Amino acid sequence: MQSQMSRAQALAHYPPLGQLIAGQFESDGGADTLDVIDPATGLTLGRAPMATAAQIERSLAAAQAAFPAWRRTPAVERGRILKRVADTLRDRSHELAGLMVLEQGKCWSEALAEVEQAAGMWEWSAEEGRRAYGRVIPGRDANTRHMALLEPVGPVAAFHAWNGPLTNPSRKLAGALAAGCTIVLKAAEEVPNCVLAVGRIAVECGLPQGVVSILVGDPATISTALIASPVTRAVTFTGSVAVGKMLAQQAISLMKRPIMELGGHAPVLVFDDADVESVARSAAASKFRNAGQICASPTRFYVQRAIYTDFIDAMNEATQQIVVGCGFDAGTTMGPLIRERRILAMEGFVADARAQGARIVTGGSRLKREGYFFEPTLLADVGLSARVSNEEPFGPIASLTPFDTYEDAIALANRLPLGLASYVHTRNVHTANRAIDDLEAGNVIVNGWRATIPETPFGGVKESGLMSEGGTEGLRAFQNVKHASIS
Ligand code: NAD
Repeated sequence: MQSQMSRAQALAHYPPLGQLIAGQFESDGGADTLDVIDPATGLTLGRAPMATAAQIERSLAAAQAAFPAWRRTPAVERGRILKRVADTLRDRSHELAGLMVLEQGKCWSEALAEVEQAAGMWEWSAEEGRRAYGRVIPGRDANTRHMALLEPVGPVAAFHAWNGPLTNPSRKLAGALAAGCTIVLKAAEEVPNCVLAVGRIAVECGLPQGVVSILVGDPATISTALIASPVTRAVTFTGSVAVGKMLAQQAISLMKRPIMELGGHAPVLVFDDADVESVARSAAASKFRNAGQICASPTRFYVQRAIYTDFIDAMNEATQQIVVGCGFDAGTTMGPLIRERRILAMEGFVADARAQGARIVTGGSRLKREGYFFEPTLLADVGLSARVSNEEPFGPIASLTPFDTYEDAIALANRLPLGLASYVHTRNVHTANRAIDDLEAGNVIVNGWRATIPETPFGGVKESGLMSEGGTEGLRAFQNVKHASIS
């Protein structure tokens, strides 16, 4: 077994930045560059040349040219290539984990787990691509048969956030490719080398030229060009609600399919029959994973009044065990936030909650050291008017509020226009069953914290998104239904 990489080793292997267009790496770009920053130090890792208009055009032309052959490649053959990508991701787990710790800051064990999760997505799509089953529908005339057939939607334009440097792009790439689509993906500018590494592996594993291109550059310039182009037929985005709405509008105005995985503000309902100690311990582990920078991260904790104080004490005790530091350091269990702007956002949430009467149980401040580190923070007695009760923190803040009845808890959970994930902890099967029906969320997780695995559909309701990624539904998002009949 390989040992954990050091920062120096990861830096020594940091690849050159550029674009991956039609299977070729291009280290040049326009005069403008973007700095890629190590969030643990604030230092620049590299300067990425931004994609030029000509490079964007070439990636679109490549996606268009490659589509007819790729859609006709038997699904089983596409699957073989995708499976090789999964295997190669696993083989290179340390190299990829090193890139993630450098660019995104997550701790080593989480980075390794993300490699496995991403590999699982490629593997699932490789297998599921073969099951693009249609239906045969009996006709109304003798000797007539109708069919509902699934076909790839066409070349896809894809955009994603930085928080899952391998999983966010892998869901889109693997889903689209397995469905028979070609794809041009804009890498999140914070983590370009993680995304380029996945693209390079896909090319190395035999993906034909032009099937995938990865662009690095100015988000609006690239999205405007990719969405407006007559080449693309679907637009997939993972990121904030505000940007998602904008891109979905652009897509819809051209009748292109929007696939939107947007923000959440996940409620956690802890009923008084739950095992307080064990739920509080696992709650802290789940809350502070990736420093809370996960769209399905549990954020609003509603705890039944009889166990409220005990729950806060137990979660506080578990939170004290979290070791904040550089992701490469042995023992670190929580890394930095992605940028200074996120530190300022956390400080704003804490100051506002305090001004409105909330109690800071622990944390609440940035760490006095280089990089963008913020303490794991628990806020108790948080009122509904506090900003943190209404806006997704996307950081290491948990807010806790007591509730009295089942109806109160459901009303609190459903009161926001978001609906990505909801968590319920109870030993009462009747409460659990009711909550699955009553919670307005794309994912309802009872007595657990895992909102997604490659086999399950992942998507939001209300303003949290449109359609699903992952699972069978993740491939359907990239397919059209065609009716055909034979007489
Ligand atoms: P953001 O929307 O500002 O940025 C996300 C990505 O969108 C970035 O890579 C950025 O380059 C890109 N982007 C921004 N403007 C764009 C434009 N005009 N055209 C194309 N791309 C553009 O969000 P953020 O604050 O960086 O990320 C956190 C948000 O993402 C949170 O709200 C979180 O919940 C959400 N998120 C959702 C999921 C999900 O699957 N539902 C997963 C991860 C993150």
